[in-house]
Amino acid sequence: MQPFSYTSPRSAQEAVATFANAGRGARFIAGGTTLYDLMKLDVEHPGHLIDITAIEGLNGIDSSGEHLRFETLALMSAVAADSVVARDYPVLAEALLKAASQQIRNMATVGGNLLQKTRCMYFRNGANGVYPCNKRQPGSGCAAIGGLDRGQAILGASGSCTAVSPGDWPVALLAMDASIEVLGPQGSRTLPVGDLYRLPGNTPHLEFTLEPGEMITAIVVPKSPAGLRSTYHKIRDRESYAFALASAAVALETDGDVVTKARIALGGVATRPWRALDAEQVLIGKRLTPDIALAAGHAAFNDARPGRHNGFKAELGARTIGDALLIASERNRT
Ligand code: SF4
Repeated sequence: MQPFSYTSPRSAQEAVATFANAGRGARFIAGGTTLYDLMKLDVEHPGHLIDITAIEGLNGIDSSGEHLRFETLALMSAVAADSVVARDYPVLAEALLKAASQQIRNMATVGGNLLQKTRCMYFRNGANGVYPCNKRQPGSGCAAIGGLDRGQAILGASGSCTAVSPGDWPVALLAMDASIEVLGPQGSRTLPVGDLYRLPGNTPHLEFTLEPGEMITAIVVPKSPAGLRSTYHKIRDRESYAFALASAAVALETDGDVVTKARIALGGVATRPWRALDAEQVLIGKRLTPDIALAAGHAAFNDARPGRHNGFKAELGARTIGDALLIASERNRT
């Protein structure tokens, strides 16, 4: 059992002020579907929990305006069930539905989901000191490099860490060019969702670009016709309740059969939600045939750096992209 103190502020401003007074041992908590797990595993040791779930007016879902806007405490299940999201932005709904079981989707929030920790087994299960882990204990080494690395990243890894970014939802948001709104001691700011995530480099323990005391307050997705031709395609060892071996979020705009715009983001293969710019370039101005879709998929992995057991992810990832493109291109044809 770990000792910690607990408060339940009534406004976002109060939550931020509470964090500032509590110091660096403080953590915000909402659905708790990641942090409580890691506390039980002896990986996380917050001194003070600031439970933001009692804050009113922070769980709204607005799909009626120029943007989709999801406040941070909106539940994953509620956003997936929104009629506009489900009808016009299948990439978002599918990412949420494939991310977790119904029970977890009913607890987990769309803001908290962006801050999931890696599932690297050496990170989660090595708190007894058996396995070195630079993310858990900076400077201690990395048991995954040269170890059992089947699930590790082949894009964006460093000599310090190869841990995969575990999320599905941030991958879909990256494909839809979403932004997040943040509140902190210095006020509020907005940043593209992709800018939330750091590459591991030499400091894999620093995963996010949030400053101490900053909390995500909302996610904003620009409305786009690309939503109508979008999908989230996720390949995993089990068909449910499993993390991605490879996933692709794609959103297309076409003129007839010719691709005019494409956004592709990847999960399960990289150290952060990964934009596949090279794959997008293959598609622009082309008719989307199965061969072109697969060529785009292969282009996404030109810079892949596999380890001992995860080389299969390059071909699996390429085919995941290819299949996702063909699925998306068949949607909402008139
Ligand atoms: Fe830790 Fe990263 Fe190595 Fe996993 S890959 S053991 S998280 S340093």
